[in-house]
Amino acid sequence: MKVGILGAGQLARMIALAGYPLGLDFIFLDPSVDACANTLGEHLSGDYNDPALLAELAERADVVTYEFENVPADVAKFLAEHTKVYPPAKALEVAQDRWVEKNFFLELGIPTPKFALVDSFEDLTRAMSTLGYPAILKTRSQGYDGKGQSVLKSAADLQAAWDLVQGLPSIVEGFVPFSREVSIIAARSVSGSVTFYPLSENLHKGGILRVAECCANDLMQKQAEDYISRLLQALDYVGVMALELFQVDGELIANEFAPRVHNSGHWTIEGSETSQFENHLRAILDLPLGSTAAVGKAAMVNFIGGLPDSKDVLAIDGAHLHLYGKSPRKGRKVAHVTVRAANAESYQNSLEKLEHLANQADDS
Ligand code: AMP
Repeated sequence: MKVGILGAGQLARMIALAGYPLGLDFIFLDPSVDACANTLGEHLSGDYNDPALLAELAERADVVTYEFENVPADVAKFLAEHTKVYPPAKALEVAQDRWVEKNFFLELGIPTPKFALVDSFEDLTRAMSTLGYPAILKTRSQGYDGKGQSVLKSAADLQAAWDLVQGLPSIVEGFVPFSREVSIIAARSVSGSVTFYPLSENLHKGGILRVAECCANDLMQKQAEDYISRLLQALDYVGVMALELFQVDGELIANEFAPRVHNSGHWTIEGSETSQFENHLRAILDLPLGSTAAVGKAAMVNFIGGLPDSKDVLAIDGAHLHLYGKSPRKGRKVAHVTVRAANAESYQNSLEKLEHLANQADDS
């Protein structure tokens, strides 16, 4: 059985690594000749919307999936005429446009920050007269890791924020005074079985995810499951999905969802019975989904812009190193490490050591 993946970055690489024990083969389509998953399967080198390459991918793969949400929905639709493609194109269309996404949340009764459409500087000033400060201006599409967005603290920030989005179609949304950020990851299979991972609590640094901690038996678990279930059903979704949420008191507010495996779920490789990567494959191949139960206490730390010394990482109790085979560049995720421990004390101890290494490696 051959799985085609659009994109050959670290997410595709981890999907492939999870797929080999299941007897799967992989073919990647990615413009970059040195993309980090290329060595794990066949590589079609070229543009994501090159019709000849897409036709070849569809011809050679039994099922196609993707590792990033900016795949043009038309590409997914084109592929779907020739082979199975999961998650569905509709999930891409919604996730690619913050305006469409936020309205979708509201239709499904999922709370989301107050927001308004901004197509001009006048729209922005008008929206801010009712929304109130602080707020965040975000481009409707192509934003990730905090790119294409800026915080508005007062009217004095409006012009600079508008210049930053370069007049692109945007939304402005109320700033949520959250006590923490969490995400829930779920998998839904072709035949409709659904499973949920324990919540992940996420800490960001400079807009990029730094630490994701597994929160087994969290009080907010059920609410998060309810919200992501609504998305899975409404989209007739197949595969792994992540929903990012803000917590304010005892309530969750949706920020955005990702129609793919997610960085906040990397701890599942060692910290769960079945990783998000394996469950994504099981879901799209309509195999039984694996248990998502937590194994010990687990957290993941991202290395951004600089690589750790493997010896230092592996000297930490319960540390599991994942190098992506990417050369370091400022702001680029080049590795992650999971810490898994049987008790709270050794967990805390190892996590502190790991965070120290990550701070040292930052953009080094
Ligand atoms: P995003 O690209 O929408 O995921 O935003 C990146 C990060 O910016 C989030 O993880 C939050 O830390 C922060 N952020 C985004 N939107 C809001 C908001 N409405 N209120 C408060 N913080 C936000």
